[in-house]
Amino acid sequence: MNTEPIWPNGARLALSIVVNVEEGAEMSVLDGDSRAEAVDEMGMMVKPGVRNFSNESNYAYGIKAGAPRIMDMLARRNLPATFTAAAQSLERAPEIARRIADDGHETCAHGYRWQVQHNMDEETERAFIRRAAQSIEQTTGTRPVGWLSRYLFTANTRRLLIEEDYRYHMDDYSDDKPFWDTDTKIGKPILILPYAIDTNDMKMWNAPAYTPRDWVIYLNDTLDVLYDEGAVAPRMMSLGLHLRISGRPGRAAALESFIERVSATDGIWIATRAQIMEHWTKTFPPSGR
Ligand SMILES: [Zn+2]
Repeated sequence: MNTEPIWPNGARLALSIVVNVEEGAEMSVLDGDSRAEAVDEMGMMVKPGVRNFSNESNYAYGIKAGAPRIMDMLARRNLPATFTAAAQSLERAPEIARRIADDGHETCAHGYRWQVQHNMDEETERAFIRRAAQSIEQTTGTRPVGWLSRYLFTANTRRLLIEEDYRYHMDDYSDDKPFWDTDTKIGKPILILPYAIDTNDMKMWNAPAYTPRDWVIYLNDTLDVLYDEGAVAPRMMSLGLHLRISGRPGRAAALESFIERVSATDGIWIATRAQIMEHWTKTFPPSGR
């Protein structure tokens, strides 16, 4: 077991704050999709072809009110985050793209639209992955190096990411630390930065498993366990947020209490995933030390 601190400045834990930007890129009858977006604060399903105006406005809230609230919260403490963005969301909200860049955050590609990939053939998926990178480079000024799917992806996805020059892949829930995939494409390893659903604010929306207070208790417990283990082994924690979910005032208050705690605790490296990738690559290169 590694007993040296592996994160910068002897930190015991790397914390990655992930802010999903999906609003404006969700499924929409207005955009030609066969049905309205099914992920809804109300859990309401409408028939194919029927617009759900109320849910469209739930998503609009994320852009109009949620984004500035969450971005101000991060800016007050100068905390960097990874914005996992569906590229089309940033095309439609260029003010958010600009602020991500100005505030020193990272943008990770979360699809061209907020759309599942599992039914895409290889060429469709390659175009989807390529278009996301090109669009995000245009809206933020920086080409994304990481990828997160809308949960469902294909047997081709990881190889396509490598071929399209992505450097890390988030679609994995198998560990509490980064690891290399050296098998998908021999000679071209890609770093896997596992994400987490259990700490995700989505648990307060389409699967209302937690109240905001439950959620903060769960986050604090997760932090405690990983922080303890981080004394002797590399650990990272992912906090997944959504503008339309944690951007609501009552949930924002819960989020703020956790953010306050982590920024006041010594030994937590709050970093973007690109920073975690750079550090891990230097410390544990794929060929081993
Ligand atoms: Zn997402």
